[in-house]
Amino acid sequence: MRFSASVLTLYPEMFPGALGMSLAGRALEAGAWSLETVRIRDFATDRHRTVDDTPAGGGAGMVMRADVLARAIDHAAPPSDPRPRLLMSPRGRPLTQRRVRELAAGPGAVILCGRFEGVDERLIEARQLEEVSIGDYILSGGEPAALVLLDAVVRLLPGVMGNELSGEEESFEGGLLEHPHYTRPQEFEGRPIPEVLTSGNHAKIAAWRRAQAEKLTRERRPDLIAPETATGN
Ligand code: SAH
Repeated sequence: MRFSASVLTLYPEMFPGALGMSLAGRALEAGAWSLETVRIRDFATDRHRTVDDTPAGGGAGMVMRADVLARAIDHAAPPSDPRPRLLMSPRGRPLTQRRVRELAAGPGAVILCGRFEGVDERLIEARQLEEVSIGDYILSGGEPAALVLLDAVVRLLPGVMGNELSGEEESFEGGLLEHPHYTRPQEFEGRPIPEVLTSGNHAKIAAWRRAQAEKLTRERRPDLIAPETATGN
């Protein structure tokens, strides 16, 4: 079963974008995953192809219309489609490596990219959209967020990453940030590679890396070690 992504957007030209290159691009060409874009504007019905309108209750900006978006979603994914329906949204649950792994193990994703102030709340309810955030900041649209999500998912698909093992040693996979890396030259601006790494003693190297990972995580992301002390979410 091949991971199949359908992205609903006002700007289909933004895809595959960065996903057409390097690892993800080669995997796309090789058919390891598929990417379809759905142009939301095609589902507007009036002469001006309107997809948005002013917010009920007043205020700045525009809101994407539920009826237009529902037609686009129903076209891309009829009710029998098993793929999760995601809405990129700063209000969403923050994306984690765990959720990325789950998505990569599934049939694909239908991804709605918001623009303007966002989308009509009734659409989120009626189509049971899962809101996903890529961080606590505001983008001008959901497209870069969809690219980020798909990049994280695609590299986990079978056969995509050259060295299968390297996917399991990344930051977060073991609940810790990753240890530091070094490569030649042996000395750079007076800084040698830590001696243990050139010792050839694999047990010692593993212990050193583990200790470094724990130290870094304690310093930078204590919330990963003791989630209950985390502020925010
Ligand atoms: N008025 C909204 C922000 C709208 S930004 C609010 O304050 O919550 C426009 C669109 O960009 C959103 O609909 C969403 O699709 C996308 N977007 C912005 N920030 C995002 C983030 N951190 N993660 C995922 N999508 C984001």
